[in-house]
Amino acid sequence: MPKMQESHNYGPRNMQDFYCEFPEFLWGPGLLISVLRFVTNVPAVAKYIAAHNMATYGLADTATFIAFAVMLAFATHGWYATFADQKRQFQDFDAKHSRKPGEKPSAYIDRDPPTAGAIRTVAALVSSIVYAFVPFAPPTTSWPVFIGWTMAVAVYWDLHFFVVHKTVHENAWLYKHIHKLHHSHKQSGPFSAYFVTYQSNFLTEQLVVIIAAALGCPRDVFTWSMYWGTLGTYVEHGGHDLADVRLAPLPVTFAQLSTILSPWSLVLGGESPGMHDWHHEKFFTNYALSFSYLDKLFGTFHPGRVPGEAIGLAHPRAAKKIDATPATPAVLEGMASCDAIADVIGSQPAFQPKVWHSAPVWRSVPAPCEALDLDETCTDSE
Ligand SMILES: [Zn+2]
Ligand SMILES: [Zn+2]
Repeated sequence: MPKMQESHNYGPRNMQDFYCEFPEFLWGPGLLISVLRFVTNVPAVAKYIAAHNMATYGLADTATFIAFAVMLAFATHGWYATFADQKRQFQDFDAKHSRKPGEKPSAYIDRDPPTAGAIRTVAALVSSIVYAFVPFAPPTTSWPVFIGWTMAVAVYWDLHFFVVHKTVHENAWLYKHIHKLHHSHKQSGPFSAYFVTYQSNFLTEQLVVIIAAALGCPRDVFTWSMYWGTLGTYVEHGGHDLADVRLAPLPVTFAQLSTILSPWSLVLGGESPGMHDWHHEKFFTNYALSFSYLDKLFGTFHPGRVPGEAIGLAHPRAAKKIDATPATPAVLEGMASCDAIADVIGSQPAFQPKVWHSAPVWRSVPAPCEALDLDETCTDSE
């Protein structure tokens, strides 16, 4: 049996220990709920809420969503453990040079049980209790309004996520305190999606929901965005390409269903699991959540690995398709090793964060590996 890559499956293994070690997952949402209750009771705001017939999402519907999202995380993990074909696998799960000739590469099911990831996922999802206190506009009454709002929420969420995500990658202090934990999962899985700090969950999800609600997001649009989006983020972190998985008895594949339910990706380009997997493997490029147009615009796009290629199982046609994707500067940058970045940093007399952080915002400038304490990445990357 080959030696597995370090699983990074660290952290508390039960909820009680988790809340003792990370009490911000209790006081954070508690504080946010207090702020929401205070603000929504300010007379002017209360008047606005009443005038627009807005109503809080409520404890029953929020608890239903949390239960759904927790069960879906375990169901997704179960699907990968049961059905995931290794031809769909993006990365090699085995440690470098640990596999003997002829030995089978490790599959998803061979990895350590993602206990710590599951515990943090549950805690992050339970913090969604804040949505019970967010007031939403009444449900839509026509398909055009529902579709318009759904698109607006998806596009805004993606833009918001891109800006926050890129910012925390380019600022060493922010990266360390907000986002580094998420990247401790270099070979991500469904339980990596919510393997985040509470600060990160607030900035990239709860704040988005509050902004959308304040701008008049209807209740049913929020419900749809959360239920469909949660599956999307688990699959995006799943480490496998599910595009051509047939969803029998439906006559469609997973990619076709995703396009039907999120047709704006035809114009804005879809962010695939392969692209986000590459982001976890290489730490930079592909900052978007749902669409690829922003990464293409900012020169931080990379098409990701060909499924199966890392373990010698790629279909030649798939490899050809990816190879045909035009290379942006970021693609070339992504191919460069962290050692090369370290060389650039090393050629400077001393580490000067300002030199990096003052770079024009439209350029992708990964924070230096040494500043991010990513030594393992610098040595692992190819
Ligand atoms: Zn990231
Ligand atoms: Zn991620």
